[in-house]
Amino acid sequence: MAGKRDQHSLPPSMPNKLGVAREAFRAPLCSRRALLRRILHAAAIGRVAPWAGGGRVFGALSSLAPPLLGATALANARPAAAGQRWFDERIEGPLHVHADFSLAVCAPLLDELIHLQDDLCKVLEVPPAKEPIHLFLFERKPVYIAYLRQYFPRVPYRRALYVKERGPGMVLAFRNAEFDVDLRHETTHALLHSALAELPLWLDEGIAEYFEVSRDQRVGGNPYLNQMKWQAWVGPLPQLEDLEAIKDLSGMGRVEYRLAWAWTHFLLHGPAALRAELIRFVADARGMVPSESLGARLLRRFPDRDELFANHFKQFQV
Ligand SMILES: [Zn+2]
Repeated sequence: MAGKRDQHSLPPSMPNKLGVAREAFRAPLCSRRALLRRILHAAAIGRVAPWAGGGRVFGALSSLAPPLLGATALANARPAAAGQRWFDERIEGPLHVHADFSLAVCAPLLDELIHLQDDLCKVLEVPPAKEPIHLFLFERKPVYIAYLRQYFPRVPYRRALYVKERGPGMVLAFRNAEFDVDLRHETTHALLHSALAELPLWLDEGIAEYFEVSRDQRVGGNPYLNQMKWQAWVGPLPQLEDLEAIKDLSGMGRVEYRLAWAWTHFLLHGPAALRAELIRFVADARGMVPSESLGARLLRRFPDRDELFANHFKQFQV
């Protein structure tokens, strides 16, 4: 993983996957090549500052763990012990956690993140992450912002980020009211992208939304559930094809995130045959996005798909 080169300079290369938490929305936006294209395009027309570093250095991201120490912009960060790059660090399974505060304060959250890998393997039958995932956690927002400006100057500010280039995925976040939700959401993306080539945007987001709440809230405690129940009774519900038509994060708003979660919840907790279909689709996505959409597959097997979807929320009881 961590190459020796550039350990103390850093990533002048652009990540090809970005996961970004929304400021305006509760749930995070996320990492897509489409977003990268938009950012690169914005850079091309001069709306975003160019890399502060001198040119593109492939593999710099994989040279990992940009040290917190020694970065002048991060002078306010909490000092680490001598010989230690971050104040606190921990390795648990695929997760390599680096923090500028004591990780003891978020021990329950870390336990959940550690279980996330097992949960994804169990629920979606995806293989475990093939590479480490690095989490960079900050106690204070100004330090987080300074860190992003130093190492990801072209990435627009977001409350949390998932970044991946050729090397291991990275999740960055600072402690705030949505810290737990952001970390679960972005780490879900990181684990999925470490095991799968690509998922359709809506499904990628739907799964991350599903796993962003605490473990005991996933099935019946997500705030989306009551909203969907109400929407199912009022009807009509938007079709899955509406979500599948969205190819860019700019098309994902509050309503679309809720709907992406709803279809994921329906596939996981509706009739068992639906979950089997989802698992088959995800397995096919290990190589590339399947040519036939999940919506089309479902409709072929379940002609009453949309009625089943509405009934799922009308009738769902915890
Ligand atoms: Zn996301």
